[in-house]
Amino acid sequence: MPAIKVTVVCVHCGTTATYSVGVSNGASQVQCKKCHKSFKVYMRNGEVYEVKEH
Ligand SMILES: [Zn+2]
Repeated sequence: MPAIKVTVVCVHCGTTATYSVGVSNGASQVQCKKCHKSFKVYMRNGEVYEVKEH
């Protein structure tokens, strides 16, 4: 599964300055450049389906 290419809003601080650092169990691991926290993004049909904090 490829890494996500869409812009994801950080669930912690709300910035869009996020980037994917990997994929595990169908979820993209996303890291925030601003607050440096990470969260998981689940994709379905090329769109963000669900975002979960750790
Ligand atoms: Zn953040």
